[in-house]
Amino acid sequence: MQNWAGNLQYAAQALARPATLDELAEVLAAAGPVRPLGSRHSFNDIADTTGTQIQVDRLDDGRPAADLDPETGVVSVNAGLRYGELSRALQLQGRALGSLASLPHISVAGAVATATHGSGNDNPSLASAVVGLEIMTTAGELRRVTREDDPEVFPGAVVSLGALGIVTRVELTTVPTFDVRQDVAVDVPWDTVLGSFDALTGAAYSVSLFTSWDEPTVRHALFKSLVPAGAGERPAPVADLSWASVPVHPLPGVDPAACTEQLGAAGPWHERLSHFRLEFTPSSGAELQTEYLLPRRHAVAAIEGVRRLAPQVAPLLQTCEIRTVAADDLWLSPFPEDSVALHFTWHQRYTEVAAVLPALEDALLPLGARPHWGKLFAIDPVDLRGLYPRFGDFRALAERFDPGARLQGGYLARLLS
Ligand SMILES: Cc1cc2nc3c(=O)[nH]c(=O)nc-3n(C[C@H](O)[C@H](O)[C@H](O)COP(=O)(O)OP(=O)(O)OC[C@H]3O[C@@H](n4cnc5c(N)ncnc54)[C@H](O)[C@@H]3O)c2cc1C
Repeated sequence: MQNWAGNLQYAAQALARPATLDELAEVLAAAGPVRPLGSRHSFNDIADTTGTQIQVDRLDDGRPAADLDPETGVVSVNAGLRYGELSRALQLQGRALGSLASLPHISVAGAVATATHGSGNDNPSLASAVVGLEIMTTAGELRRVTREDDPEVFPGAVVSLGALGIVTRVELTTVPTFDVRQDVAVDVPWDTVLGSFDALTGAAYSVSLFTSWDEPTVRHALFKSLVPAGAGERPAPVADLSWASVPVHPLPGVDPAACTEQLGAAGPWHERLSHFRLEFTPSSGAELQTEYLLPRRHAVAAIEGVRRLAPQVAPLLQTCEIRTVAADDLWLSPFPEDSVALHFTWHQRYTEVAAVLPALEDALLPLGARPHWGKLFAIDPVDLRGLYPRFGDFRALAERFDPGARLQGGYLARLLS
């Protein structure tokens, strides 16, 4: 079996999709390496194993797939549910999530495990909404870990890279539903971006900038504004901008039919916060992705550093997206402080992309960059560990949950070995 992008053939010998918790325990009782697998949207072998991959998308533990507690606003979610499905269920009950990734196709457990994020100066990653997890360990024991009851362990257990066990339930905080409008500004001058970065990214609830680095301006800026907080008006950014009069896809030349509604039409959060609609192929489908997350205070230096590499980078790119992410306290989160995210959607030219990654890392690692756990990067696992002050604690936690190291396949094995 392959990952979603088709750039990786899994080494796994088998795929299990248990329908009940007992079936899951049976799969785990069989000897050998195992690995949780989400919706396969990661670009590296973080979800791989030489044994059995386990998906929980069919798992029915007898509770509703999205079980909302109206008193606390916490929703307990079947871990294999996709964000698009969860969002619709929440909207029907008048609730919302604060942030979504660019695509609603990813599973909740898989996204949380890699610290997947959306955008917004005040919006932390999707993992930050987690307040509890139910995890079946390789010994077949079902454990519940919550922020309230397990404060020592919880920050290490959320962005888990699938190293602790099979997450069966994720508990998420929700907020009252809200409306959003999307407006696209085109040809934003680099001087505006570099001179007023914080103001520009703070001009709406969520802002994304799209560029291929070698263009005279930033190709477009996508503003997602709260309605009616902005009184239904376009955001008022720092400079005069030219507004698109037709919808714009993040990738140049691609049909925007796959995109959530733009042109200022207000609508519910779950039909605006992701760039792409659940029913369509997100992004291009034929692609590779890389992303570096680094302190927002270094955003301008990082952008200038990548612009200097434009001659090497641009020919391989479909697009690049610049977003912001607020800080959290999770041990393996790449957002220990308010951050900027530099995302690269590459053409599927793996050898050439791999050749350019070290130059990007030479420019960005000195600024505190960490790679996205689910994408392509060059940094050696030994050096990567050193970027996370709590990595030793995480390794000890993984040993406690999985003493036989049965979960240690693919990239995780290289990281923890
Ligand atoms: C088109 C596209 C757009 C993207 N956009 C964004 C974006 O906007 N922001 C962003 O941050 N990332 C983005 N990504 C990356 C993506 O969000 C991450 O790779 C995410 O981890 C994928 O989730 P998944 O369900 O496919 O998990 P997988 O890729 O299948 O697995 C990822 C990790 O989760 C673990 N895992 C999965 N299920 C479980 C479980 N039940 N229990 C324990 N561990 C589990 C796996 O072991 C693995 O370590 C994008 C990817 C694509 C293909």
